This record gives sequence, structure tokens and C-alpha cells, in this order.
Amino acid sequence: MGSPINNRAFFPCQEPPVAMSTWQATVRAAASFVVLMSGENSAKPTQLREGCSSWHYYVTMPMPASTFTIAVGSWTEVKPETCSLRDLAAKRTLSPPEADFRCVGVCGHVAYPCRFQNPSATTQEVIPHRAFAPVSLTGACQETLLQLLSPCLSAAHSVLGTHPFSRLDVLIVPANFPSLGMASPHLVFLSQSALTGGRHLCGTRLCHEIAHAWFGLAIGARDWTEEWLSEGFATHLEDVFWAKAQQLAPHEAQEQQELRASLRWRRLQDELRNSPEQLQVLRPNKEKTGHVSDSGSSVIKHGLNPEKVFMQVHYLKGYFLLRFLAKRLGDDTYFSFLRKFVHTFHGQLILSQDFLQMLLENIPEEKRSCGSWAMCFPLRRG
Ligand SMILES: [Zn+2]
Repeated sequence: MGSPINNRAFFPCQEPPVAMSTWQATVRAAASFVVLMSGENSAKPTQLREGCSSWHYYVTMPMPASTFTIAVGSWTEVKPETCSLRDLAAKRTLSPPEADFRCVGVCGHVAYPCRFQNPSATTQEVIPHRAFAPVSLTGACQETLLQLLSPCLSAAHSVLGTHPFSRLDVLIVPANFPSLGMASPHLVFLSQSALTGGRHLCGTRLCHEIAHAWFGLAIGARDWTEEWLSEGFATHLEDVFWAKAQQLAPHEAQEQQELRASLRWRRLQDELRNSPEQLQVLRPNKEKTGHVSDSGSSVIKHGLNPEKVFMQVHYLKGYFLLRFLAKRLGDDTYFSFLRKFVHTFHGQLILSQDFLQMLLENIPEEKRSCGSWAMCFPLRRG
């Protein structure tokens, strides 16, 4: 992942998220190695000479350099064991959209071939995907991950609509990876701990990473102290996607979501009791959020604080805020607003205000009574 080192070890780039760019790379590696990268094409190796292969990846959608990720290792592509699974996957994965749709003047972002304006992309429930893992985990991947990918991708599409990215690689990373998962454009790292932790853990984590395609990647934070825009949404959406992927009846989904909310509430209370108050704040830059210095640099408060990594505040307070809004507005109103929000802001970087403002504009009756719930809005307290 380039983000912890601002990608400067990989290629010359600009630090602030607003300096978005496209990229492409040709990577040479020993033929026994697999090269995966944030790229919209499912690259296959080309043999250069005996024992040496070349992989080419590219993106056409400009994104912050911090979202770029590359992985090189000794893995194998895991394929379904039985024909029926493969048939099912083939049936549900429509052929990739062919036409080059440039939504000049239609979307709010700079011009690139945008899936939101491409009719064959908007109806694609399941995007093409591959899974990679060490050979020793092939069986575990076939038993859990491969069974979950299509239902989870399809669930995400049923909630949010168009998949912002045309394809997805999922790579199983070692259990010592610093988190259970990590999403980058076209590439998700899933920890071995999640893979072997049972269907439920694997499914919820996969749903969380899939949600980042919309929140965190297609819509990024203009100021990374507003990490909740990525993690709060993904945490809230993982429950919603997972309930749909399991095809739970409404009362079962609610029961499962209440249980998870209760566990998260305990976790948040523990954190509030046992962490420095200055780290419990969602927007540490407060009114300076989104400010860029004259030289163009932006500072991420607590960015170098080692304790910050262990904090769940952006996940949990963000999650409880969104859960509150969904309950307050009703699922139908909230999720139809969310689809509208994604349609408006994909391909762009936002601040909390963009979300709040559009929400207030679109929910007139809420706007009238906003005083009552703005009091509960964690953003007000930071
Ligand atoms: Zn667009």
C-alpha cells in the first residue's frame, strides 16, 4: 500500500488528495511470481525471456496517489472447484462494458470513461473478479471466499447501484497484515485471519472492503482527518450488504444488526474510557478541515501518532451517526438518498459538509426539524 509512505518510494507524486492522477505500470518479475496492482485491466503475464514475466496495468480514472497499491508474491489464482459454481459466476457476471463513455458535463468529475453513464455498466450486478492466495489456502478460498464474492458484490449493487470500478482482485495476505482487510482501486487485501475465521467474519469483512469502492475510493475525503467518510460508511454498509448477501428475512437482518450494534457500542465505550480525549475526535482539524497551506501541503493531525492506528473512533462514531440517520429517515429514504449522493459525488473528493448539506437539501421535512437532530450530530462536537 502506497499510502503509509505517500507513495514516494514508488514514483514521484504529489501528497494532497486533490492532486489526483491516472497511472500505468509495466512490472517485470520472476515467472513464478504474481503481480497484482490497482489497475482496471485483469492483467495476465507476458513471458519476456526464460523465467521472467511482464505485467501491465493501467487506470483511466484519476485518483489520489495514496490509493495506489501493488502486490508481488508467490500466489496462485484460485478458481471454483466445480463446474456449477463457474457456470453460476459466468451467468451473473455480464461481459465487461465495451463502449467508452466519457461523461463530459454530465458528472461532476473530470472526464474519464465513467461507469455511471454507461448503461451496460450500471446494470452489472457482479463485476468480474479473481482471487489469489498461497497454494496452501486454495481449499479455504474455494470453501469460503469464492462462495461469498458474487453474493456480496451483488448485494452491494442492490443497495448502492453501479459498481464504480470495472473489476476486482482479492488477495489473501498473511495473518500478520496490520488489519483484517484493505481496499484499493480494483484490489482488496483480505487477511488470512478473516478467511479462516468462518463464513460470517469473512463475509462481513469482504462486504466492508467492497463498500470502500464507493466510500473511500470513488468518493474520497478531501482532508484525511475526515477518515470517517470512508470508515463510518463502510462499517454501516457492511451490515446492510451482508444481510442481503445472506438473503436474511427482515426480522433476522434486524436481529443481527442490533447484535452487532450492541457489540460496537461496548467497544466504543471502552475506547472512550481508555484513550486520550484528543484522539476521540472525528474532525481533529475542526474549522480548519480541508485547509491547504500556501505551498499546497496539507497536514494530517495525529498522522504520525502511533496510538491513532489503534483507534476505532472513525469507524464507530461514524457508524453510529449513519445508523441514527437511517433509523430516523427510514431505510427506503436513507438508501435512495445515498444512491443519489453517490451519483452526484463519485470521482470527487468531499468534506463532511458536502454530505450534510446534500442530506438537508434532499430531506425537506428533516431540514425543518434539523435543530432536534443536529444536536445529536457528532460532527458538531468534532
Ligand atoms: Zn461519472
